[in-house]
Amino acid sequence: MMKVGVIGLGAMGASMAMNLHLAGFLRAVWNRTRSRAQALSRETGVAMAESPAELAAGVDLVLTAVSCDSDLEEVINALLPGVRPGGAVADTSTVSAATARAMAAALKPKGAAFLDCPVSGGVEGVRNGRLAMMVGGEERVLEHVRPALATLATTIVHMGPSGSGQATKAVNQIMAAGINQAVTEALAFGESMGLDLTKVIDVVSQGAAANWYLSHRGKTMVAGCFEPGFKVALHHKDLAICRAMGGPPLPIVDLTLENYQRLIDRGYGAEDISALYRIKREQLGAG
Ligand code: NAP
Repeated sequence: MMKVGVIGLGAMGASMAMNLHLAGFLRAVWNRTRSRAQALSRETGVAMAESPAELAAGVDLVLTAVSCDSDLEEVINALLPGVRPGGAVADTSTVSAATARAMAAALKPKGAAFLDCPVSGGVEGVRNGRLAMMVGGEERVLEHVRPALATLATTIVHMGPSGSGQATKAVNQIMAAGINQAVTEALAFGESMGLDLTKVIDVVSQGAAANWYLSHRGKTMVAGCFEPGFKVALHHKDLAICRAMGGPPLPIVDLTLENYQRLIDRGYGAEDISALYRIKREQLGAG
Protein backbone atom coordinates (compact mmCIF):
# COMPACT_ATOMS: atom_id res chain seq x y z
CA MET A 1 0.00 0.00 0.00
CA MET A 2 1.19 3.49 -0.85
CA LYS A 3 2.73 5.40 2.09
CA VAL A 4 1.51 8.98 2.51
CA GLY A 5 2.76 11.88 4.67
CA VAL A 6 0.90 15.13 5.31
CA ILE A 7 2.49 18.57 5.72
CA GLY A 8 0.23 21.35 7.08
CA LEU A 9 -2.37 20.31 9.65
CA GLY A 10 -4.72 23.30 9.60
CA ALA A 11 -8.48 23.25 9.03
CA MET A 12 -8.06 21.28 5.79
CA GLY A 13 -4.85 19.27 6.32
CA ALA A 14 -5.79 17.81 9.72
CA SER A 15 -9.01 16.29 8.33
CA MET A 16 -7.19 15.06 5.22
CA ALA A 17 -4.61 13.35 7.45
CA MET A 18 -7.37 11.73 9.48
CA ASN A 19 -9.14 10.39 6.37
CA LEU A 20 -5.85 9.01 5.00
CA HIS A 21 -5.20 7.40 8.39
CA LEU A 22 -8.63 5.76 8.52
CA ALA A 23 -7.98 4.28 5.05
CA GLY A 24 -4.55 2.97 6.14
CA PHE A 25 -2.36 5.29 3.98
CA LEU A 26 -0.94 7.71 6.57
CA ARG A 27 2.64 7.12 7.76
CA ALA A 28 3.87 10.54 9.00
CA VAL A 29 2.79 14.13 9.68
CA TRP A 30 4.65 17.43 10.01
CA ASN A 31 3.34 20.85 10.98
CA ARG A 32 5.21 24.14 11.53
CA THR A 33 3.53 24.54 14.92
CA ARG A 34 4.56 21.28 16.57
CA SER A 35 1.60 21.00 18.95
CA ARG A 36 -0.78 20.31 16.03
CA ALA A 37 1.42 17.47 14.75
CA GLN A 38 1.81 16.10 18.28
CA ALA A 39 -1.98 16.03 18.74
CA LEU A 40 -2.53 14.20 15.45
CA SER A 41 0.33 11.80 16.08
CA ARG A 42 -1.11 10.96 19.53
CA GLU A 43 -4.59 10.43 18.09
CA THR A 44 -3.52 8.24 15.15
CA GLY A 45 -0.30 6.64 16.37
CA VAL A 46 1.55 7.74 13.19
CA ALA A 47 5.04 9.24 13.37
CA MET A 48 5.64 12.96 13.80
CA ALA A 49 8.50 13.82 11.43
CA GLU A 50 11.18 16.23 12.65
CA SER A 51 11.32 18.04 9.30
CA PRO A 52 9.62 18.09 5.88
CA ALA A 53 12.73 16.34 4.44
CA GLU A 54 12.50 13.52 7.00
CA LEU A 55 8.81 13.10 6.21
CA ALA A 56 9.44 13.03 2.44
CA ALA A 57 12.21 10.42 2.82
CA GLY A 58 9.81 7.92 4.39
CA VAL A 59 6.80 8.09 2.06
CA ASP A 60 5.75 7.63 -1.58
CA LEU A 61 3.37 10.57 -1.63
CA VAL A 62 3.61 13.88 0.28
CA LEU A 63 0.34 15.77 0.60
CA THR A 64 0.65 19.49 1.40
CA ALA A 65 -2.05 21.86 2.71
CA VAL A 66 -0.54 25.24 3.59
CA SER A 67 -1.80 28.81 3.28
CA CYS A 68 -0.28 30.71 0.37
CA ASP A 69 2.34 30.69 -2.43
CA SER A 70 5.35 31.64 -0.29
CA ASP A 71 4.39 29.02 2.34
CA LEU A 72 4.26 26.31 -0.32
CA GLU A 73 7.64 27.42 -1.70
CA GLU A 74 9.09 27.16 1.83
CA VAL A 75 7.82 23.64 2.48
CA ILE A 76 8.81 22.34 -0.96
CA ASN A 77 12.32 23.75 -0.52
CA ALA A 78 12.48 22.16 2.92
CA LEU A 79 11.39 18.71 1.70
CA LEU A 80 13.58 18.64 -1.45
CA PRO A 81 16.64 17.11 0.27
CA GLY A 82 14.56 14.10 1.40
CA VAL A 83 12.24 13.50 -1.53
CA ARG A 84 12.49 10.01 -3.11
CA PRO A 85 13.13 9.52 -6.82
CA GLY A 86 9.82 8.26 -8.19
CA GLY A 87 7.97 9.95 -5.33
CA ALA A 88 5.21 12.52 -5.73
CA VAL A 89 3.92 15.66 -4.02
CA ALA A 90 0.20 16.48 -4.24
CA ASP A 91 -0.49 20.04 -3.15
CA THR A 92 -4.06 20.82 -2.07
CA SER A 93 -3.40 24.48 -1.14
CA THR A 94 -4.81 27.26 -3.29
CA VAL A 95 -1.85 29.05 -4.94
CA SER A 96 -1.17 30.56 -8.35
CA ALA A 97 -0.80 28.42 -11.46
CA ALA A 98 2.69 29.91 -11.90
CA THR A 99 3.76 28.72 -8.43
CA ALA A 100 2.42 25.23 -9.21
CA ARG A 101 4.50 25.12 -12.40
CA ALA A 102 7.59 26.36 -10.49
CA MET A 103 7.15 23.63 -7.84
CA ALA A 104 6.85 20.96 -10.55
CA ALA A 105 10.10 22.26 -12.07
CA ALA A 106 11.84 22.23 -8.66
CA LEU A 107 10.96 18.56 -8.05
CA LYS A 108 11.80 17.32 -11.54
CA PRO A 109 15.62 17.15 -11.08
CA LYS A 110 14.98 14.90 -8.06
CA GLY A 111 13.01 12.50 -10.24
CA ALA A 112 9.84 13.36 -8.31
CA ALA A 113 6.49 14.56 -9.62
CA PHE A 114 4.27 17.43 -8.52
CA LEU A 115 0.49 17.59 -8.92
CA ASP A 116 -1.50 20.76 -8.22
CA CYS A 117 -4.60 19.37 -6.54
CA PRO A 118 -6.64 22.29 -5.19
CA VAL A 119 -9.97 21.34 -3.65
CA SER A 120 -13.43 22.72 -3.09
CA GLY A 121 -16.08 21.71 -0.58
CA GLY A 122 -15.07 23.51 2.59
CA VAL A 123 -14.43 22.12 6.04
CA GLU A 124 -17.60 20.00 5.79
CA GLY A 125 -16.40 18.45 2.52
CA VAL A 126 -12.96 17.64 3.87
CA ARG A 127 -14.29 16.09 7.10
CA ASN A 128 -16.56 13.77 5.11
CA GLY A 129 -13.95 13.02 2.43
CA ARG A 130 -16.33 14.47 -0.17
CA LEU A 131 -14.24 17.23 -1.76
CA ALA A 132 -14.07 18.12 -5.45
CA MET A 133 -10.43 18.05 -6.61
CA MET A 134 -9.09 19.64 -9.81
CA VAL A 135 -5.70 18.28 -10.82
CA GLY A 136 -2.85 19.64 -12.95
CA GLY A 137 0.21 17.58 -13.86
CA GLU A 138 0.96 14.23 -15.46
CA GLU A 139 -2.14 12.05 -15.76
CA ARG A 140 -0.19 8.81 -15.18
CA VAL A 141 1.05 10.20 -11.83
CA LEU A 142 -2.52 11.10 -10.86
CA GLU A 143 -3.68 7.57 -11.73
CA HIS A 144 -0.86 6.14 -9.57
CA VAL A 145 -1.80 8.20 -6.48
CA ARG A 146 -5.57 8.27 -7.11
CA PRO A 147 -6.38 5.56 -4.51
CA ALA A 148 -4.97 7.81 -1.75
CA LEU A 149 -6.59 11.00 -3.10
CA ALA A 150 -9.91 9.17 -3.36
CA THR A 151 -10.05 9.07 0.46
CA LEU A 152 -10.35 12.89 0.36
CA ALA A 153 -12.45 13.61 -2.68
CA THR A 154 -15.43 12.00 -4.39
CA THR A 155 -14.74 13.94 -7.60
CA ILE A 156 -11.18 14.02 -8.96
CA VAL A 157 -10.75 15.47 -12.44
CA HIS A 158 -7.52 15.71 -14.43
CA MET A 159 -7.56 19.21 -15.99
CA GLY A 160 -4.31 19.19 -17.98
CA PRO A 161 -0.64 20.06 -17.42
CA SER A 162 0.87 21.64 -14.27
CA GLY A 163 -1.02 24.78 -13.23
CA SER A 164 -4.34 23.82 -14.82
CA GLY A 165 -5.69 22.55 -11.49
CA GLN A 166 -4.99 25.96 -9.93
CA ALA A 167 -6.46 27.80 -12.93
CA THR A 168 -9.65 25.76 -12.43
CA LYS A 169 -9.64 26.60 -8.73
CA ALA A 170 -9.46 30.31 -9.69
CA VAL A 171 -12.67 29.81 -11.68
CA ASN A 172 -14.22 28.24 -8.56
CA GLN A 173 -13.09 31.11 -6.31
CA ILE A 174 -14.50 33.80 -8.63
CA MET A 175 -17.81 31.94 -8.63
CA ALA A 176 -17.71 31.61 -4.83
CA ALA A 177 -17.15 35.38 -4.55
CA GLY A 178 -20.22 36.06 -6.70
CA ILE A 179 -22.33 33.65 -4.68
CA ASN A 180 -21.16 35.27 -1.43
CA GLN A 181 -22.05 38.71 -2.82
CA ALA A 182 -25.50 37.50 -3.93
CA VAL A 183 -26.42 35.59 -0.75
CA THR A 184 -25.22 38.22 1.75
CA GLU A 185 -26.81 41.10 -0.19
CA ALA A 186 -30.13 39.29 -0.67
CA LEU A 187 -30.38 38.26 3.00
CA ALA A 188 -29.48 41.78 4.21
CA PHE A 189 -32.22 43.08 1.89
CA GLY A 190 -34.63 40.54 3.42
CA GLU A 191 -33.69 41.74 6.90
CA SER A 192 -34.28 45.37 5.89
CA MET A 193 -37.78 44.27 4.70
CA GLY A 194 -38.47 42.91 8.18
CA LEU A 195 -38.79 39.31 6.99
CA ASP A 196 -38.24 36.21 9.13
CA LEU A 197 -34.91 35.14 7.62
CA THR A 198 -35.13 31.55 8.83
CA LYS A 199 -38.31 31.15 6.80
CA VAL A 200 -36.72 33.01 3.86
CA ILE A 201 -33.76 30.60 3.84
CA ASP A 202 -36.02 27.53 4.18
CA VAL A 203 -38.25 28.46 1.26
CA VAL A 204 -35.58 29.94 -1.06
CA SER A 205 -33.44 26.81 -0.52
CA GLN A 206 -36.18 24.77 -2.21
CA GLY A 207 -36.42 26.96 -5.33
CA ALA A 208 -34.31 28.01 -8.30
CA ALA A 209 -31.96 30.18 -6.18
CA ALA A 210 -30.99 27.22 -3.95
CA ASN A 211 -27.25 26.82 -3.46
CA TRP A 212 -24.70 25.11 -1.17
CA TYR A 213 -23.55 28.35 0.41
CA LEU A 214 -27.06 29.49 1.36
CA SER A 215 -27.84 26.07 2.86
CA HIS A 216 -24.54 25.82 4.80
CA ARG A 217 -23.89 29.43 5.86
CA GLY A 218 -27.27 31.23 5.60
CA LYS A 219 -28.62 30.53 9.08
CA THR A 220 -25.32 31.07 10.87
CA MET A 221 -24.64 34.40 9.14
CA VAL A 222 -28.08 35.84 9.94
CA ALA A 223 -27.50 34.75 13.57
CA GLY A 224 -24.27 36.82 13.56
CA CYS A 225 -22.01 33.72 13.79
CA PHE A 226 -19.00 33.90 11.48
CA GLU A 227 -16.96 30.95 12.77
CA PRO A 228 -14.70 29.62 9.93
CA GLY A 229 -15.32 27.76 7.63
CA PHE A 230 -13.25 29.51 5.09
CA LYS A 231 -11.39 32.56 6.33
CA VAL A 232 -11.87 36.01 4.77
CA ALA A 233 -8.08 36.41 4.56
CA LEU A 234 -7.72 33.16 2.58
CA HIS A 235 -10.42 34.01 0.05
CA HIS A 236 -8.88 37.49 -0.27
CA LYS A 237 -5.56 35.78 -1.07
CA ASP A 238 -7.27 33.59 -3.71
CA LEU A 239 -8.99 36.54 -5.39
CA ALA A 240 -5.72 38.48 -5.44
CA ILE A 241 -4.26 35.50 -7.34
CA CYS A 242 -7.15 35.69 -9.86
CA ARG A 243 -6.55 39.42 -10.26
CA ALA A 244 -2.81 38.88 -10.77
CA MET A 245 -3.52 36.40 -13.59
CA GLY A 246 -4.52 39.47 -15.65
CA GLY A 247 -6.86 39.02 -18.58
CA PRO A 248 -10.36 40.49 -18.77
CA PRO A 249 -11.95 42.85 -16.22
CA LEU A 250 -13.30 40.97 -13.19
CA PRO A 251 -15.82 43.29 -11.49
CA ILE A 252 -17.02 40.68 -8.94
CA VAL A 253 -13.41 40.00 -7.95
CA ASP A 254 -12.62 43.71 -7.58
CA LEU A 255 -15.71 44.41 -5.45
CA THR A 256 -15.11 41.39 -3.22
CA LEU A 257 -11.41 42.22 -2.76
CA GLU A 258 -12.38 45.72 -1.65
CA ASN A 259 -15.09 44.40 0.73
CA TYR A 260 -12.76 41.77 2.23
CA GLN A 261 -9.98 44.35 2.68
CA ARG A 262 -12.42 46.44 4.74
CA LEU A 263 -13.22 43.40 6.88
CA ILE A 264 -9.52 42.61 7.33
CA ASP A 265 -8.79 46.25 8.29
CA ARG A 266 -11.52 46.02 10.95
CA GLY A 267 -10.00 42.84 12.42
CA TYR A 268 -12.38 40.28 10.83
CA GLY A 269 -9.84 38.53 8.54
CA ALA A 270 -9.96 35.27 10.53
CA GLU A 271 -13.77 35.10 10.36
CA ASP A 272 -15.69 33.04 7.81
CA ILE A 273 -16.31 34.70 4.43
CA SER A 274 -19.99 35.00 5.40
CA ALA A 275 -18.79 37.98 7.52
CA LEU A 276 -19.43 39.91 4.29
CA TYR A 277 -22.97 40.06 5.72
CA ARG A 278 -21.67 42.68 8.19
CA ILE A 279 -20.93 45.07 5.31
CA LYS A 280 -24.16 44.34 3.39
CA ARG A 281 -26.25 45.00 6.54
CA GLU A 282 -24.55 48.35 7.01
CA GLN A 283 -25.03 49.28 3.34
CA LEU A 284 -28.71 48.28 3.36
CA GLY A 285 -29.46 49.78 6.77
CA ALA A 286 -30.69 46.38 7.99
CA GLY A 287 -31.20 45.51 11.66
P1 NAP B 1 -5.36 27.10 7.98
O1 NAP B 1 -6.37 26.43 8.88
O2 NAP B 1 -5.03 28.53 8.22
O3 NAP B 1 -4.01 26.18 8.04
C1 NAP B 1 -2.86 26.56 7.35
C2 NAP B 1 -1.79 25.50 7.56
O4 NAP B 1 -0.63 25.89 6.80
C3 NAP B 1 -1.33 25.35 9.00
O5 NAP B 1 -1.04 23.99 9.26
C4 NAP B 1 -0.06 26.20 9.02
O6 NAP B 1 0.86 25.83 10.04
C5 NAP B 1 0.52 25.87 7.67
N1 NAP B 1 1.48 26.88 7.21
C6 NAP B 1 1.22 28.15 6.85
N2 NAP B 1 2.36 28.77 6.48
C7 NAP B 1 3.35 27.86 6.59
C8 NAP B 1 4.75 27.91 6.35
N3 NAP B 1 5.36 29.03 5.89
N4 NAP B 1 5.47 26.79 6.58
C9 NAP B 1 4.87 25.68 7.02
N5 NAP B 1 3.55 25.57 7.28
C10 NAP B 1 2.80 26.65 7.06
O7 NAP B 1 -5.81 27.01 6.46
P2 NAP B 1 -6.81 25.95 5.76
O8 NAP B 1 -8.20 26.46 5.86
O9 NAP B 1 -6.45 24.56 6.21
O10 NAP B 1 -6.37 26.17 4.22
C11 NAP B 1 -5.22 25.53 3.67
C12 NAP B 1 -5.23 25.77 2.15
O11 NAP B 1 -6.42 25.18 1.58
C13 NAP B 1 -5.25 27.25 1.76
O12 NAP B 1 -4.48 27.46 0.61
C14 NAP B 1 -6.74 27.50 1.49
O13 NAP B 1 -6.91 28.60 0.59
C15 NAP B 1 -7.16 26.17 0.89
N6 NAP B 1 -8.59 25.83 1.05
C16 NAP B 1 -9.26 26.06 2.21
C17 NAP B 1 -10.62 25.72 2.30
C18 NAP B 1 -11.42 25.97 3.57
O14 NAP B 1 -12.67 25.90 3.50
N7 NAP B 1 -10.78 26.23 4.71
C19 NAP B 1 -11.27 25.12 1.23
C20 NAP B 1 -10.55 24.85 0.07
C21 NAP B 1 -9.21 25.21 -0.01
P3 NAP B 1 0.72 26.43 11.55
O15 NAP B 1 -0.16 25.46 12.28
O16 NAP B 1 2.10 26.46 12.04
O17 NAP B 1 0.11 27.81 11.44
